[in-house]
Amino acid sequence: MKTPISLTLTDRQFQKIQKHLFPGDNDEHGLVIAAGIVETPRGTRLLARDTFMAKDGKDYVPGKHGYRALTAEFVAEKSSFCCDQNLCYLAVHCHGGNDSVAFSTDDLASHERGYPALLDITKGGPVGALVFAKNAVAGDIWTRNGRYELDSVTVIGSRIQKIFPRVLAGTQFSDPKYDRNVRLIGENGQEILSKLKIGIVGLGGGGSILNELVSRLGVGHIVAVDFDRVDLTNLPRIVGATEHDAIAFLTRTKNPWLKYLGKRFAKYKVLIAQKVAKQANPKIRYEAIVGNIVDKSIAHQLVDVDFLFLATDSIQSRLVFNAIVYQYLIPGAQIGVKVLVNTERQVDQILVASRMVMPFSGGGCLSCNNLIPAGRLANEGLSEKERRAQRYIDDDEISEPNVISLNAMSAARVVNDFMMMFTGLFNEVVNLNHIIEFAENRELCSVKHQIDKVCLDCSNSGLSRLARGDRAHLPCRENS
Ligand SMILES: [Zn+2]
Ligand SMILES: [Zn+2]
Repeated sequence: MKTPISLTLTDRQFQKIQKHLFPGDNDEHGLVIAAGIVETPRGTRLLARDTFMAKDGKDYVPGKHGYRALTAEFVAEKSSFCCDQNLCYLAVHCHGGNDSVAFSTDDLASHERGYPALLDITKGGPVGALVFAKNAVAGDIWTRNGRYELDSVTVIGSRIQKIFPRVLAGTQFSDPKYDRNVRLIGENGQEILSKLKIGIVGLGGGGSILNELVSRLGVGHIVAVDFDRVDLTNLPRIVGATEHDAIAFLTRTKNPWLKYLGKRFAKYKVLIAQKVAKQANPKIRYEAIVGNIVDKSIAHQLVDVDFLFLATDSIQSRLVFNAIVYQYLIPGAQIGVKVLVNTERQVDQILVASRMVMPFSGGGCLSCNNLIPAGRLANEGLSEKERRAQRYIDDDEISEPNVISLNAMSAARVVNDFMMMFTGLFNEVVNLNHIIEFAENRELCSVKHQIDKVCLDCSNSGLSRLARGDRAHLPCRENS
């Protein structure tokens, strides 16, 4: 298995686990996590999907070898659930202490007694155990080919937290260029940004601004995906694009053949974005991918990013983006601008959408919120204004009116949300509703999230893709 190995939990799951393990009685408690798995060159992530709290005295009882243990019945029931659902089985208990934690020799001996058989029952697992202290987590993960230590746990909420077997000393981030950043987000925050891998899908007007902002913030690694070349009409909106990139001396002519030639050899948008990012941060690692997220091979290059931005207009790319967010537990954001023109060709409404899409039920799933039109959803519960906002932004956008400042409004909002989230600047409870700005009225509308209880992306109904990682298929084209 690729290392490091980590476990991703949502904040809601983490709170529930903490409450169960540390009710204030200083005693030991237990539970089981069923998790999906994704393995990439960056490491292996276990993705918590279901949590099963063991009832004290019934499922979690005094042990033959150790202090307490899960009953054989509980283990059998939960491991066969994991086997049926093709998930990994993780047994969890707690130790005292706060800032560091490790398994006891009893714990390790019990893994050696139990896990070889459990690997067989769960068709190769992986299986394993986690032990929690208040601010620390350690893990012992078993596969058929070996045994691994868990490196860290990532908790996804309005603050993204990382928890290790022992609380780490603060890091020193010394590049003086980031002095003003560091005054806001701290050296730790700057260090966190420098280690993030971010995906940006669509490097047109909106995406080019996301790219500029994220790279100036000091993010260390960007994967940019767009199949398109820059066009003369894009120049007023794409950061860093020049007339030279759009081969303006040809594309400005009236001669259709020269125009065609110019378009054929204009620069790819991702290459312009790469140039901009490297100017902002010469140390950045940049993967410029000429391609479409709808293709399986391209989508799979985004499954290990820490955050995913979507700035395209196609509904198909929304479908794949939403699937990646939920299947791989990757927080994301979608932006878009829609200018509505009435029958007299006058501008009627100017809608600017900034939507955070968090990887848990009620997190702003595009499918639940009717933003992927084939999706199933009851529209009730929305106010007239919310309905109006959602309905109009749905359609594909072709040669629509647009200017850079409208794109900038949505891009700045979601990049700021992203920055606040990873550097811990957000308060513990923050409303991450979708935001639609009616620019012509200078009015913000916060759109309450809809929840489809059987959503195939974000619910944990048996058929959904939530947290399944590599063990489910993305809704992609197979070719390429
Ligand atoms: Zn223990
Ligand atoms: Zn959903």
